[in-house]
Amino acid sequence: MRCKVCGRDFPSLYHFKTADVCLGCYEGMGEEERVKAAQPREIFRMTTTAFTLDGYRIVKSLGVVRGITVRSRSVFGTIGASLQTIVGGNITLFSELCEQTRSEAFEMMVNHAVERGANAVIGVRYDATEIMQGATEVLCYGTAVVVEPL
Ligand SMILES: [Zn+2]
Repeated sequence: MRCKVCGRDFPSLYHFKTADVCLGCYEGMGEEERVKAAQPREIFRMTTTAFTLDGYRIVKSLGVVRGITVRSRSVFGTIGASLQTIVGGNITLFSELCEQTRSEAFEMMVNHAVERGANAVIGVRYDATEIMQGATEVLCYGTAVVVEPL
């Protein structure tokens, strides 16, 4: 991976503060530059649940990548959700929790794909398992690929 500021090559994402700015360069940045550097990476738009990507050709498959997060519900969240269950309707406390957990797993998966040199992830799926009372494991996986515009 290459830092877009200093152009140095690093072996993995752990040397990066954002998508393409290394720790060292980020430290030397002003507030405005940091905000700009934190813009989402291109690859986040290059993910799909399908096995093809419109307008692109898959040139290389780099195997399955995944991200896992485990989340336990807080006592307060559970009480709040129980009240909502009585009232009825969408249980927002749980849906927010699920959404956050899923996006963490998703980001982790994308990071692994980037580390392998992928620029897209296809066949993205989510899987959730309750591993014990109140603790849920969320798995996000997909196939890391290299694509080229058609
Ligand atoms: Zn740098």
